[in-house]
Amino acid sequence: MDESVNEHYRQLLKLEAPWRVTSVEKDLVEETVTIKVGWPERTAVACPQCGRACSLYDRMPERTWRHLSVMQYLLELRCAVPRCECPEHGVKTMRVPWAEPGSRFTVQFEAFAVAVITACRSLTQAADLLRLHWDSVQRLIDRAVERGLARRSTQGLKRVGLDEKSFLRGQRYISLMTDLKDPRVLEVVEGRDTLQAVALWTALPEDQRSKVEAAAMDMGANFVAATRLAAPKVAIVHDRFHVAKHLNDAVDQTRRQEAARLAEKGDESLKKTRYLWLHGTVPEQHQATFTELLEMNLKTSRAWLYKEQMVEFWTQPDAARGEHFFTQWYRTVMRSRLPKVKAVARTLKAHLVNLLTYFQHPISNALTEGFNSKIQAIKADARGFRRFQNYRARILFFCGKLDLAPQLPSAPTHSVP
Ligand SMILES: [Zn+2]
Repeated sequence: MDESVNEHYRQLLKLEAPWRVTSVEKDLVEETVTIKVGWPERTAVACPQCGRACSLYDRMPERTWRHLSVMQYLLELRCAVPRCECPEHGVKTMRVPWAEPGSRFTVQFEAFAVAVITACRSLTQAADLLRLHWDSVQRLIDRAVERGLARRSTQGLKRVGLDEKSFLRGQRYISLMTDLKDPRVLEVVEGRDTLQAVALWTALPEDQRSKVEAAAMDMGANFVAATRLAAPKVAIVHDRFHVAKHLNDAVDQTRRQEAARLAEKGDESLKKTRYLWLHGTVPEQHQATFTELLEMNLKTSRAWLYKEQMVEFWTQPDAARGEHFFTQWYRTVMRSRLPKVKAVARTLKAHLVNLLTYFQHPISNALTEGFNSKIQAIKADARGFRRFQNYRARILFFCGKLDLAPQLPSAPTHSVP
């Protein structure tokens, strides 16, 4: 092709001499433009490690990088990258100015792709827009997350949340660590046993781990054991969010048993009332029904009342008053004939020390749950989740608040002495 066309593309690509464009080929059927880039013979090559000008050793087999499209044409760069022979570092592949090492995409394409993936609702949609296989989109995500994690700072991290979520239709679990102050997911591991939860802690740099003051978590033994093992000085806070969940479950189980009993007698009062008992506030249009239900003096309404009373625990001014409140509440519950609520009360009593830490560290995983809808959406787009690592990368990509942008390789800084 015309030398001036090559020069034209060299300028568009902002390739500095001695890099040059050796050919530009278009495939009108495949709608592809291929630009071949070359490094001239007998031209010194900078060692990627020390920057020293070395002699050209040989060339790698030709490789292709996907670049931003031009008009409707897919644009790709092709180059047989030179290798140099450094007296100190041996034979090394030269660093190219258009891509990060190991990438099959140019830096501009990666930056664009990261923006597209971030804006898309699903991986499939992103793959369509980028004209890539979803596998390649996953690879872009992996690389972006790797960059983001390498640059991430956890300085000033004081309060974290540990939580578990189901994964792959509930057959498997993942555990997450979140930053509760600057809401972001810090790490995701597969499973929820003690060792796996330890891995959440060890994902933090050690000096940072020792500066964390408190961690919110459920009362399950694994997260507690993991925290004692990996971050023994951290205050454990069994947060109100999980406590509410346990009490809600107890109310619901009580309701179900009672509804069945009533139904045997032809009483359908409790039918379809499940969600009325779950929230503190009852919607306007159900207010009358709910008041009626409360007046029936049902087991369900008593269970509901104890659950609602427990909310006040969190509003106590300090740990001493909190303990006093709890003792009273516990006594009343234990006098009731509500085995499900009593079981939760016993669990709470066994964990009281770490419930009272709330008054010093008023944290909760409610925030972690704020990521729920986002993670739910990621989960729904389940392509490639046989591999847990894909899932982890996507959660960190969308919920990790990472700096995902690619960077041009920095030019070797020093010249030959
Ligand atoms: Zn070198």
